[in-house]
Amino acid sequence: MPLRDRPGATRESGGELSARVLDGKRVAQEIREDVRREVSGLIAQGVKPGLVAILVGENPASEIYVRNKTRASGEAGIYSETIRLPADTSRQTLAEHIDSLNQREEVDAILLQLPLPPHLDPSEFISRIHPDKDVDGFHPFNVGRLVLNEPGPRPCTPAGILELLRREKVEMKGARAVVLGRSNIVGKPMALLLLHQHATVTVCHSRTREIARVASEADILVAAMGKSALVRRDFIKPGAVVVDVGINRVQEREAVLDYFGDDAARLAQLESTGYTLVGDVHPREAREVAGALTPVPGGVGPLTIAMLLDNTMRLARQRRLPS
Ligand code: NAD
Repeated sequence: MPLRDRPGATRESGGELSARVLDGKRVAQEIREDVRREVSGLIAQGVKPGLVAILVGENPASEIYVRNKTRASGEAGIYSETIRLPADTSRQTLAEHIDSLNQREEVDAILLQLPLPPHLDPSEFISRIHPDKDVDGFHPFNVGRLVLNEPGPRPCTPAGILELLRREKVEMKGARAVVLGRSNIVGKPMALLLLHQHATVTVCHSRTREIARVASEADILVAAMGKSALVRRDFIKPGAVVVDVGINRVQEREAVLDYFGDDAARLAQLESTGYTLVGDVHPREAREVAGALTPVPGGVGPLTIAMLLDNTMRLARQRRLPS
């Protein structure tokens, strides 16, 4: 049954069909409850999963992410710790911290918060994390496991999207999927995960020609470019499932009106904080064409944190209770 005909589809006041909302927040909550249950099982066997984040320098977005992660870990029964290092930390000092975490028995998962200050090359330090403690799945060894479709930690954002699609019963087998963006942390792993679900996958990027035409062939469209509302009506096949990964700040009232209409909550947020968030998908236009759509915020963001906890729990189980 096409998604827009399913019970979740709603009608707008003008009589137009409106896309079903894919509630990432609710699905993330379900995943977190599953993780909490698994973690209590591990604790009963003497294993308390441990996650350590390394934060170098001061970056407000990273601060918020790490704070949310710490709170979520606690709720799931996972031990968590944050190592804060100054922006002028040397290569040697960062390397020593990673080496020490690789050695610590009670540490199952190491998260190196990106971006790093410019004098530190992320790939050097990602490769230094032991692959069995690589909670983001960014280590080249784990990237290889992903390409080969072998078990291993998967990058949290695309893994969360896959879990959302699975739990929302979106048919991936044989579907045409288009991923907009080819970053190592979202676009590329997303494409591989969809491919392993037997979707026919196309990856678009900043040099793609006729991107709207390519995107409009997708049954499943994932937008991860970091460009406010770039995905317009003409990018979307009627009834498609659209996943919006982008998180962009909008500060202009005119843009807010364009994206959200006269949504009172958005306008109030703009008034009080000076901005609101929009994804890479034009929300008002997408709602009228798509069959299902993830909101921003409350879509992909909460899933990323849920999968971080899931990855931590799995790494602990694999390393400390090998079957
Ligand atoms: P990135 O900057 O590393 O990569 C962006 C990709 O988009 C590149 O591959 C580039 O080729 C492509 N691109 C840029 N402009 C384009 C254009 N005009 N047309 C087509 N392709 C274009 O970004 P990223 O780290 O992959 O993140 C993408 C977005 O997702 C950002 O807004 C980021 O904040 C957000 N994000 C959200 C979460 C979450 O949990 N919700 C997690 C990670 C990233």
